[in-house]
Amino acid sequence: MAFELPKLGYDYSALEPHIDARTMEIHHTKHHAAYTSKLNDAVAGSSLDGKSIEEILTNISSASIAVRNNGGGFYNHSLFWKVMSPNGGGTPLGDLADAINKAFGSFDNFKSEFSNAAANRFGSGWAWLVITKDGLKVTSTPNQDNPLMDISEVKGTPILGIDVWEHAYYLKYQNRRPDYIAAFWNVINWDEVAKRHKG
Ligand code: MN
Repeated sequence: MAFELPKLGYDYSALEPHIDARTMEIHHTKHHAAYTSKLNDAVAGSSLDGKSIEEILTNISSASIAVRNNGGGFYNHSLFWKVMSPNGGGTPLGDLADAINKAFGSFDNFKSEFSNAAANRFGSGWAWLVITKDGLKVTSTPNQDNPLMDISEVKGTPILGIDVWEHAYYLKYQNRRPDYIAAFWNVINWDEVAKRHKG
């Protein structure tokens, strides 16, 4: 069973003005589509054929670099589209809000730690909010790596992620990555993040 490019739950223009339609369309139909088809090529006929993406990523140290890059790209973007919404923004509620306050002291502290992780990731990569065995943590990863991978510095289940590859923001924001990160807070789908936190 091959991996399939997921459909977005909203139009390419739905996250305007924070993320522009052209960026969304290219990101989904070109970048994510390419990770998906290259992942399928890389696992076809191998011992990974038929395994779930989570199984593959948690044992990524024994896989090829093609599986690492494209498997990460497939998973990361699938999460990314879901944790954004045209009705997003604001702050989390309930258990997730409690867990964030416990781990970071306050939502504002969390926001600043996450934004700094995204801004300071050198080159291409992602920043994450992760469930670890010691509670919620913020981390960042290079390229298409993520915290599910057994090679990740901070290991756990990512529940929120921001793509800071230039392809995610360059058309609208050019070199102003911090402006894109600031805009991301307006589209975060906290209901989806809470659902992933609940597990
Ligand atoms: Mn991307």
